[in-house]
Amino acid sequence: MTETSAAASSSTSTDLVLERRVVTEIPGPRSQELHARRVKVVPPGVHSVLPVYIESAHDAIVRDVDGNQFIDLGAGIGVTTVGHTQAEVVEAAKAQLDKYLHTLFTITPYEPYVRVAELMAEHTPGDFEKRTVLVNSGAEAVENAVKIARKFTGRRAIAVLDHGYHGRTNLTMAMNFKAAPYGTGYGPFAGDVFHAPSSYPYRDGLSGAEAAERTFWYLEKHVGASDLAALVVEPVQGEGGFMVPADGYLPALKEWTEKNGVVFVSDEIQSGMARTGKYFASEHFGIVPDLITFAKGIAAGLPLAGVTGRADIMDSSHPGGLGGTFGGNPVAAAAAVAVFEMIEKDALLAEATRIEKRLKGGLEDLQSRFDIIGDIRGHGAMVAIELVESGTAQTTKVPNSAAVSALAAHAAKNGVLVLTAGTNGNVLRFLPSLAITDAQLDDALGVLADGFASL
Ligand SMILES: *Cc1c(COP(=O)(O)O)cnc(C)c1O
Repeated sequence: MTETSAAASSSTSTDLVLERRVVTEIPGPRSQELHARRVKVVPPGVHSVLPVYIESAHDAIVRDVDGNQFIDLGAGIGVTTVGHTQAEVVEAAKAQLDKYLHTLFTITPYEPYVRVAELMAEHTPGDFEKRTVLVNSGAEAVENAVKIARKFTGRRAIAVLDHGYHGRTNLTMAMNFKAAPYGTGYGPFAGDVFHAPSSYPYRDGLSGAEAAERTFWYLEKHVGASDLAALVVEPVQGEGGFMVPADGYLPALKEWTEKNGVVFVSDEIQSGMARTGKYFASEHFGIVPDLITFAKGIAAGLPLAGVTGRADIMDSSHPGGLGGTFGGNPVAAAAAVAVFEMIEKDALLAEATRIEKRLKGGLEDLQSRFDIIGDIRGHGAMVAIELVESGTAQTTKVPNSAAVSALAAHAAKNGVLVLTAGTNGNVLRFLPSLAITDAQLDDALGVLADGFASL
C-alpha cells in the first residue's frame, strides 16, 4: 500500500539543491495519487491549502514527492523560523531521542524543560522574576493563560481585539474574530469573552490614542473593568492580516490594564521567537506584557508551546492545576534550546531585519506598478500586502480577495508557496524562514510580479 511513497522518497533534506524547480504540473502525479488515498481516510475539515505531498525540506526550500521544489514563504505558518531541518536542531533532537522520549514532567521532571523556562525568562521583556509552563499547542497556551489570569484575579471576563485569532479549541474559537471557517457550526462557545475594537490604521485612520480610547470605552461600558480578568492581544495580528497597531496604541492598552488590575496577555504565538526582528514583537512597541503565549517558531517544527509571565501571577495556580501528559516533551524542549542557540550564534534577529528590507523594497516596487496593493505592513520576516480593487487604494479600499486567490494560485503553480490571511481574505502574508537568501526572495518576488501582470 505504501509502495508509491517508498519509491518516491529517495532523497533526504541534505541532498537538496536549494532552488525553485517546477518539473510537473502542480500537484504532480505522485501527489495526486497520495491525495486520492488521503481523501478516503482524512475528513475534508482538515483542509490543505496546496496538496503537494512533501518529501524533504531544508532552509527555505520544500521538495515534493514529484521532485518539484518550492520557495517556502509560509514556513508552516511561521513555525520553521530558523529554517527547515537545521543541523543544530536535528542533532539536538536526535541526541535527546537516544536518552528518553517521555517521563512526564509532572511525575519525574527533566532538565530540557527547565532550560527552556530559563531561556524564556531571559529573552522575554521585563526584568522581573518569571515562570513558564509548557504545553503542546498554541491554543492550549492561550487556554492556560486565560486559566492563570482568572485564578490570579478572581474575575470572570476575558477581552480580545477585533480581527484577532487564538485557536480552534472551544474557548479559543470564542476568542476568534472571524467565524468562518474556524467556528462555523461548532457552537455553543465559551461565555464571558468580549471582542473590543482594535487599531487598524489602514482602515480606521485613527491615531493610537484615539483607537485606544475607543477600546477603553467599549471595555468600560460593555464589560466593566472590575470584572475583567485579562486582555489578550496579538501585538502584530496574524490570521487577521498582519495589522500593526498605530503608534501608542499598545502602550495605552498596557497602561489601562495596569490601572484596572487586568492581566495583559500578549499572544506571540505567530509574532514571537525572532520572527519580527526582536525575540518578541511586544518589544517593537515598548510594552512589557504580564503574560506571553508562545508556540509556532519555538522548536523549529516540533510541537511545543507555553506561557511565560510574572511570577506572582503564575504562582497563584495551586500544585496540579497546570500541566498535561505531553506538555514540554523532552525532544521538543531539546529542539527549542537549539533554536535559542541558533538565534544567538547566527544573529538571526538581524536576518529578520535583512528580510524585511528586501521584501518591503520589492513589494513597494510592485505597489508603484500595481495600484491594487493598498497597504504594505509588518515587522521583520512577518510582512503582508493588503489588496483592494483598482482605483480604491486611497478611497473606499474595497477588499480584493479574488486577486489574492489568483496570486496564491499563480505562485504555487510556479514553485512559490505563499499564504493568505485577512478578515476579508484580501491579504497575502509572507512568513519566510530566516534562512531564506536574498536570491530566493528576489526569485519569489519575480514570480509574484508576473502574477500581478497576468491578473
Ligand atoms: C496559530 C495561532 C494560535 C493557535 O496555535 P495552534 O498551535 O494552532 O493551536 C493562537 N494564536 C495565534 C496568534 C496564532 O497565530
